Amino acid sequence: MSDRTALRPETIAVSAGRPPRTPDAPTSTPVTFASAFVAGGEIEYARYGNPSWTALEDALGALEGGTCLSFASGMAAVSAVLSLVPHGGAVVVPRHAYQGTLALLDTEAGSGRFEVRRVDIVDPDAVEAAIPGAALVWLESPTNPALEIADIARLAAAARAAGVLSVVDSTFASPLLQRPLELGADLVVHSATKLIAGHSDVVLGAVVAGDDALADRIRQHRSLHGAIPGPMEAFLTLRGLRTLSVRLERAQSNARELARRLADAPGVVEVRDPGFGTVLGIVLADAAAADRVVDRVQLWIPATSLGGVESTLERRRRWATEAPTIPEGLIRLSVGIEHIEDLADDLLGALR
Ligand SMILES: *Cc1c(COP(=O)(O)O)cnc(C)c1O
Repeated sequence: MSDRTALRPETIAVSAGRPPRTPDAPTSTPVTFASAFVAGGEIEYARYGNPSWTALEDALGALEGGTCLSFASGMAAVSAVLSLVPHGGAVVVPRHAYQGTLALLDTEAGSGRFEVRRVDIVDPDAVEAAIPGAALVWLESPTNPALEIADIARLAAAARAAGVLSVVDSTFASPLLQRPLELGADLVVHSATKLIAGHSDVVLGAVVAGDDALADRIRQHRSLHGAIPGPMEAFLTLRGLRTLSVRLERAQSNARELARRLADAPGVVEVRDPGFGTVLGIVLADAAAADRVVDRVQLWIPATSLGGVESTLERRRRWATEAPTIPEGLIRLSVGIEHIEDLADDLLGALR
């Protein structure tokens, strides 16, 4: 195979993680259902490794420029990274990070495991001021569901200068739109459940580490805590990754066009569009107005989660765990790959 580093990301997403090119080898790495492997090799037991994971991890690692470890879910990946924080250590985290991440941090903080420093991620001076003495700077960009953008290069550099680890939850960007390790972060987290798998039929997470020592610690955490992905899930996630670039192309063009049309749609107070990616937010006057839109759409599916080929929407504050600073009338739109006119007709019709 030619030098992978010379290939473009769209090509890596298609070509990495395939079996060696020998006559009659399958072109895709098959699903390996096994709990035990013949002794004397590198795997030995299925909690330590599986060829279906390796294929996916090779591809995601090549895309992000590090060593990838796959997990049972995005939250298992989050939890593995948090295991790097020593007891009582401080974690700097965006106030609008994924609600599961915040809930996990709060739960652990309640038992004295962590100190949590919540920051406004769009105020880099405030984030930098919170870094000294911390053990980990948690970045998420764009944030879910506020769609704020962090200055990853600046904040990762500030963390490094202070001797503090940094991680980016890059779920909303996917490995094709943002490469945090190249921007100076130590680790990347993905909920592959979303854009990478892309069809709303898999739960899987990934950590990508920028150096071998961190990768070894994350691998050891996975082996001991056991939050491993199923082989079928790893296979489906890699299959999803193969089409990520074309799905992104369509979904992003749909998202930008919808953002334009929603700007002067009836009842829309604010459109949140990070300018890339496939998730938008619209803010309506209040919860009731937003709930009416969610009830009225026929094509858009009212559902949580995001990043699938099908367009979904939800009013985020229907969840008690969502941050109180998220507007009651915010609807998160996960834009899929349907025809733009059908998506626009349905959504603008529901707003009228
Ligand atoms: C969904 C999500 C997670 C959690 O991933 P799961 O696969 O649901 O466990 C973490 N971070 C972000 C930004 C997410 O959107």
